[in-house]
Amino acid sequence: MDSLYRGVVTADAFSSFEINVTQNLVVSAVCRNPDVFYPVEGVSVPGPLDVNTRSWAERVMSDNRDDFLRMMDRENLLVMYEIGERSPWVEYMVYDRSGNEVYLRESLSLTKDEESGDIMGVIILRDITEQKLVEKENRRRLRVIEGLSVDYESVYFVDLDRDTYDIYRRNSYITRYYGDCFEETYSGAIRAFADSGVYPEDRGHFLQEMEADTIRRKLQSQVAARFIFRVQPDHRFPPQRYRVKLVRTGPGDRHISNVLLGFACVEEEMQAESAQREALESALRQARQAAEAKTLFLSNMSHDIRTPLNAIVGFTALAKEHVSEPEKIQGYLAKITESSNHLLALISDVLDITHIESGRFSMEESPHEVRDLITQAVDLIRPQAAKRRTQLAILVDDSLPKRIYCDSMRFFQVVSNLLGNAVKYTPEGGRVRLRVKRCAPSPHGYVSMEITVSDNGIGMSQEFMEKIFDPFERENRTAVSRVEGSGLGLSICKGIIDAAGGTISVRSAPGRGSCFTVNLAFRIAQESEEPEEESAVGRKFHVFRKKKSGEEKSLDGIRVLVAEDNELNREIAISMFENMHIAAEAVENGKLAVECVKERGAGYFDVILMDVRMPVMDGHAAARAIRALPDERMSQVPIIAMTANAFEEDVLAAKEAGMDAYVSKPVDGKSLLSAIEAVIPARPRRGT
Ligand code: ADP
Repeated sequence: MDSLYRGVVTADAFSSFEINVTQNLVVSAVCRNPDVFYPVEGVSVPGPLDVNTRSWAERVMSDNRDDFLRMMDRENLLVMYEIGERSPWVEYMVYDRSGNEVYLRESLSLTKDEESGDIMGVIILRDITEQKLVEKENRRRLRVIEGLSVDYESVYFVDLDRDTYDIYRRNSYITRYYGDCFEETYSGAIRAFADSGVYPEDRGHFLQEMEADTIRRKLQSQVAARFIFRVQPDHRFPPQRYRVKLVRTGPGDRHISNVLLGFACVEEEMQAESAQREALESALRQARQAAEAKTLFLSNMSHDIRTPLNAIVGFTALAKEHVSEPEKIQGYLAKITESSNHLLALISDVLDITHIESGRFSMEESPHEVRDLITQAVDLIRPQAAKRRTQLAILVDDSLPKRIYCDSMRFFQVVSNLLGNAVKYTPEGGRVRLRVKRCAPSPHGYVSMEITVSDNGIGMSQEFMEKIFDPFERENRTAVSRVEGSGLGLSICKGIIDAAGGTISVRSAPGRGSCFTVNLAFRIAQESEEPEEESAVGRKFHVFRKKKSGEEKSLDGIRVLVAEDNELNREIAISMFENMHIAAEAVENGKLAVECVKERGAGYFDVILMDVRMPVMDGHAAARAIRALPDERMSQVPIIAMTANAFEEDVLAAKEAGMDAYVSKPVDGKSLLSAIEAVIPARPRRGT
């Protein structure tokens, strides 16, 4: 036993014990470190093996205590010997006297004493603390690497000196496509990967960057380096961009050999980045364009407004100088009227295009006769065409439904603008044709309509056609500049057609004529659905609540209340009524209007003309207040709104406030009378 004992107790053995398993005895002990093996009461050597074992087990940390006890169980040791398992071992941690962690490896060699037949054992305890701490540190490092490399699908440890590599992590994509590339050496693997998967254009760069010397050079001055290359293992799919990150694991001032390589697909990230960059660039472009458009708009506006305004100012001055010459005055007034109308049309167009482009624009659909819609537009153009001796041909497809749902004012605007242009830009005696036909197919209950306006006029260049629908664009030709226009008509048409989900296109050649084609779909209206009666022309006025009566309506002796804050407008309105021999009173705001109605009493006023924007109380509030009056004869007095913004929302707001009709400013006598006639009930003549 002595020889055996000496044989196994090697120089680095920490401590050793000789045991007799059969006799349950710790025979002897050699303890090299008294800090770990200090005397414990009730335990001695020689002494009982089970007592020693139990006492020691208490010092073994709980994680491995059971393993230790299981191994050192006497019955177990005897069985182990019998089955030939004669060198069992266990590792555990104990605390030394000062509370330091000490890791031990306990190995046991079992033999049989030939003389006594007892099973004997030698326990060797080695201090493996250092080794365990290194392992622990390595594990910690691995966790750190793992944490830091989550963004990398494949991670490799490379030993550049030995030209070897270890796979730390590798994704399934790489394994699937590059399984064959995992050669023994690092350089071999890189070459194989470059040949089979790296996008041909990037191959040279990739190989150069991955070369040991390049990596060493780069990582001397920095801990990590990175570059991007493209991977395309399968030509059916577009290449994917990958990022490689190279990190040195040691200091840079010494020879570099160990490097960590991470590969990550950055295609999505880069695409998202470039999409974001593009979005920002486009936002910037749009902002710039908007700023440019605004400047252009203002300069165009000031030019276009100035021209008729100059005429008005100029001719007014001339008229003053020639007060005693009625003929001249007539001529000047005619010119002033013409310029005023032009100015008004321009302002309406500008408001309209601003409104359309603001996106707050909506269509107001109601049932209309297709023929009426077309006739209204054509009727507006007829006098102009007759003056220029233009032949007007109107062709309307018979298969079109009788009635459709549409915004008659917008329909009118589109068709009259196109026809107006065709007449304007066609020399005298030319031909203009309007063709409206049904085109198949269209969804059930709808009709697809094609409206074509063609002429044999001056036409336009290909270059101009590309910007024809942009606001204020007019072709830079003498033939065009001689014709009056603002370059807004077609932008308005396009805005309306876009909002209605339709299309507009143009074909033209200089000197040969132009052809505009509009495609729109309309909901078909049933015969029973009443068409709108009042004219949609320019929508100078609009009636929501019409008082129908078989009797002829008379405006004789009616009394009107005008609520208008602008003094000039008030004066114009009163003079207009005076000329019509209609009695009118005027107030400055909505509040005064309500008070006036109450003061004058029931049945006094026959109609109220209500400006919408007024201080103190606006027109809508005043209309609501009047509608809420207790006496029905006062509360039901017809109210006509007057507003400068003739948009759908304003019309709706007026309607909701309980008004009966609406006239757009500047108010002209004819529309005003028509509106009044439509809203007042038939009544017995009242003596004035
Ligand atoms: P406007 O007629 O007020 O100038 P539009 O927006 O209606 O504005 O038209 C823009 C420009 O398109 C016109 O100034 C003209 O140069 C060109 N244009 C439009 N219609 C025709 C046409 N039928 N024939 C030739 N040129 C046309």
